[in-house]
Amino acid sequence: MRKYTDDEMIARLERVGVIVHNTHVKLSNGCCTRTYANFVPGLVPREERSVLVSEAAALVQHSHSSAPVIVGAGCGSYYALQVADLLGLSFAYAERAEGGVFRFKREQTKLIANRNIVLFDDVLTTSTTLTKLGKLVKACGGMPTQGIVLLNRSQDSHVVPELDAEVPIHQLMERYYEMWPSEALCPECAKGNRPSPNIEGGERVFRQHGYRAQS
Ligand SMILES: [Zn+2]
Repeated sequence: MRKYTDDEMIARLERVGVIVHNTHVKLSNGCCTRTYANFVPGLVPREERSVLVSEAAALVQHSHSSAPVIVGAGCGSYYALQVADLLGLSFAYAERAEGGVFRFKREQTKLIANRNIVLFDDVLTTSTTLTKLGKLVKACGGMPTQGIVLLNRSQDSHVVPELDAEVPIHQLMERYYEMWPSEALCPECAKGNRPSPNIEGGERVFRQHGYRAQS
């Protein structure tokens, strides 16, 4: 498969409405932005999804002696599971529990102990999710060795912070999109524009941009 550059990949995704511009939204980390990247599978046509999965799989680093386990969270799990399947690796799903913490179901915890772990997310904004996943993995006796995201939209995150050992972050696409840490600092909020509600509603965004959902 040909390798897409960041610009080519982002252009493709913009064409199908994955990266939605000019939409004032409040991100889950509390930041406001005018640019939202939505990787909900229903939004992303099959062909684009398979490109993302293949290229993400190419980022996974492991030696033959220690095949890692792929850990995914949220929407990123959809892609993480396919990456794991493509590479013949185990996958564990970190579900979001109350208070924004992540947890594994009991039987999945057994997959983690004494293994190298790839932390997988769809969009990196502030590394918070990868840090939480890394800490969860360590608490289960695993060793986080790599973070992978489809899009790194942060300004300078290339290592998962707050973990004892350095865990590099690799991404398919890297592009900084401006965001503001609070409504008080957001120029859209200052103009009295309310953030769009329910931006995760993939169908709604899809219709708004004139595309039909594909499976
Ligand atoms: Zn705002």
